Amino acid sequence: MAKVRVKKRNVIIAVGIVVVIIVLIAGIFRWKQQLDYQKTYEYKLENHGYSKEDTAYLIEKLSDKELDAILARDVDQNILKFMKEQYYLKKHLDEYLAYQKEHPEEELSNIVAIINVNADREWYSEYEEVDVSKDILLLSNKFHKLPDNYEPEDLENVKNWYAYGDNPQLRKEAYSQFVSMYNAAKEDGQDLIINSAYRSYKYQDDLYAKYLEWYGQKETDAMAARPGFSEHQTGLSMDIMTYGANSTTFEATEEFAWLQKHAHEYGFILRYPKGKEYLTGYEYESWHYRYVGEEVATYIYQHDITFDEYYAYFIEGE
Ligand SMILES: [Zn+2]
Repeated sequence: MAKVRVKKRNVIIAVGIVVVIIVLIAGIFRWKQQLDYQKTYEYKLENHGYSKEDTAYLIEKLSDKELDAILARDVDQNILKFMKEQYYLKKHLDEYLAYQKEHPEEELSNIVAIINVNADREWYSEYEEVDVSKDILLLSNKFHKLPDNYEPEDLENVKNWYAYGDNPQLRKEAYSQFVSMYNAAKEDGQDLIINSAYRSYKYQDDLYAKYLEWYGQKETDAMAARPGFSEHQTGLSMDIMTYGANSTTFEATEEFAWLQKHAHEYGFILRYPKGKEYLTGYEYESWHYRYVGEEVATYIYQHDITFDEYYAYFIEGE
């Protein structure tokens, strides 16, 4: 009987030891799991103050390095809102947030556009050289200056019946596409005439100097590009008119309405649209068209953005 009791006790002790070991192992396992979990971005972001949903979004979109940068900031719902903007560029996140602080009433999509094209800066205040290797997609604006002696290599003389004035020139592709557009417009009963096309650096330099003398800096800058900054120097731009119209009346012509509908089909865009002055730096010009090729022109037309915005996002990018 005593023997049995001893045996029973031993069994109880043995079972007890086993249970303690199991509990210990489970505890260590859980503790280890917890430690591992605390190393995840899921834990860190939620612990930092982001919701489950926002955390999942951030993890899906960002690299580890970028997530570390997010964790180094205070929680800010605007970060996620900016990230969800169509033309969000991560290199500009700080600038978007800073601009928003200064302009809380501004729509986020507008802030993204403004920062992407540098329009928060004063026009001409700083600039880089135009990357002419981008060919028909090069960007020439008030922050991108063409090399002084830049002259496209494939300029062609425009035949007189397409244009006013003496010997206008355009780059080969822009010219042949204009001719196709001209013919299509003609078939629809519209007369397109080129009023001004390629302008050399020297031409713009003389024009600007003349205006400067007559009107002073501020007015001149509103009317004419500074030398090296005119898109006309690219050979890809042209001012289009029709008989009997001028820059004020062109917008009301059937030709303008036709261009509004069809220019993109030939690769042309209205370069300085109404309502986008704060992005392009130019007053609305119903007559100034830029050749960018059919695909890009169609995108710009369908999405109602400026070429400056297109370039910043799709060509320059991150
Ligand atoms: Zn023009």
